[in-house]
Amino acid sequence: MRDCIFCKIINGQIPATKIYEDELVVAFLDIAPINPGHALVIPKEHHESCVTIPEEVAGRMFKVGSRIGVAIKRALDYDGFNLHLADGQCAGQVVMHGHLHIVPRGAQDGFHWNWRQKKYDSDSERQEIAEKVIAKLKV
Ligand code: 5GP
Ligand code: ZN
Repeated sequence: MRDCIFCKIINGQIPATKIYEDELVVAFLDIAPINPGHALVIPKEHHESCVTIPEEVAGRMFKVGSRIGVAIKRALDYDGFNLHLADGQCAGQVVMHGHLHIVPRGAQDGFHWNWRQKKYDSDSERQEIAEKVIAKLKV
């Protein structure tokens, strides 16, 4: 895809610090890490949304992301990692080539995943919402 920064990384048109590559995915270090070692796994094929990424490729992204998480923990002495994927601008997606973040985490890194969490008004409201989602999953 022309003008896609991640397609350009895949094609070698712009440099990146690659840490993994196979026939389906590429992984490289994020240029602006949340913690050093923060990496991105991307499909070689351009997909704006994770929704259109074929299951085999999406599965590979998840497995490679998990392996990188373990490698980052061991190599750089972290305690854990977050896998994060933003789908859509309102979700924080800035680069429109779907990608999975591997964010290394230290117990003392002071970063709190403090999204506000709401409550359902009632059990029936929660059930109603579940039914709406289930109906769309069947389509
Ligand atoms: P998003 O917000 O779309 O989920 O994340 C995009 C990520 O890509 C950001 O964390 C940003 O730092 C990273 N990024 C953007 N441009 C480049 C680049 O040219 N090279 C690398 N290595 N990372 C980039
Ligand atoms: Zn692309």
